Amino acid sequence: AAKNAGRNRFSYFTPALQVAAINRMRMTNDLRSALKGGQFRVYFQPIVHLRTGKIHKAEALIRWEHPQRGLVSPLEFIPLAESSGLIIEIGEWVFMESARWASRWRRDHHPEFQVSVNQSPLEFQREGKGYEGWLAHLRELGLSGQAVVVEITEGLLLDASSGVTDKLLQLRDAGIQVALDDFGTGYSSLSYLKKFDIDYLKIDRSFTRNLAPESSDMALSEAIIVMAHKLGLRVIAEGVETHEQRDLLLAAGCDYGQGYLFARPVPAAQFDAMLMAQTRALAAGADLTSTAP
Ligand code: C2E
Ligand code: MG
Ligand code: MG
Ligand code: MG
Repeated sequence: AAKNAGRNRFSYFTPALQVAAINRMRMTNDLRSALKGGQFRVYFQPIVHLRTGKIHKAEALIRWEHPQRGLVSPLEFIPLAESSGLIIEIGEWVFMESARWASRWRRDHHPEFQVSVNQSPLEFQREGKGYEGWLAHLRELGLSGQAVVVEITEGLLLDASSGVTDKLLQLRDAGIQVALDDFGTGYSSLSYLKKFDIDYLKIDRSFTRNLAPESSDMALSEAIIVMAHKLGLRVIAEGVETHEQRDLLLAAGCDYGQGYLFARPVPAAQFDAMLMAQTRALAAGADLTSTAP
């Protein structure tokens, strides 16, 4: 009977599942050595103040330069980093890199420049994680908590018992602002915007994509912007790709835009050059409102 049970259990593993499991294992090992071997890169994408065209902030977006596969998208490896727990170390590394660049950009371009970092639910809800370490690191760089913004997703806020409230309070105490990423794609309960201390709302790019005068996504975006402002939040539209989208968002009162119209995510040195060019253009009296940087 024991032998049969064993055989039955074995039959659950179809070859396809086995291959998937082996691939996952291989990728997890690759991820671990990527961290040690310095194969991760942080790219930065500008967040542009729509009214003036100025780059006010940057979002840090991780990339994996895989020796065989080239640039691997975070959409592919973040889930694996989460299930293997490696996301914690990866997230710490992204934070450190972001803080380092934030310090430079605050010094060279604008004292209020901010870099935002993404936190997946697992990172955010990590037991025992306070922000003392981050604050100490920022202090060493001569920065306050204001230099970074943490991006979290709506789903987290549904589960009010999970210590999320506590984490958000810790962030507020540390002076670190919070952005609600991908807004409108999840369970979008408006009540938590009142309940939690959120600073920025990022309208998901699925709304931006369908913006057109009189469209339902236009109406929704307008309503979101008005509501966010009434609650004291600033609004960032994701996925701005066209001038028309930019103009519609601006007319609707949206504060910031992020998207390929302005720039794709680029390596830090390239972002630095982009900022430098803008700072120089502004010093020369350029008007950035009509042209994308
Ligand atoms: P997200 O936080 O919503 O980031 C925005 C995504 O939209 C980025 O994809 C960005 O490259 C892309 N994007 C920006 N502008 C446009 C546009 O105009 N059109 C289109 N089609 N796409 C645009 P990316 O870099 O592939 O990142 C995907 C997701 O991976 C991020 O979504 C975020 O959830 C996650 N992620 C990235 N870096 C990190 C990280 O360091 N830690 C964690 N936990 N997650 C990360
Ligand atoms: Mg984000
Ligand atoms: Mg987003
Ligand atoms: Mg999104």
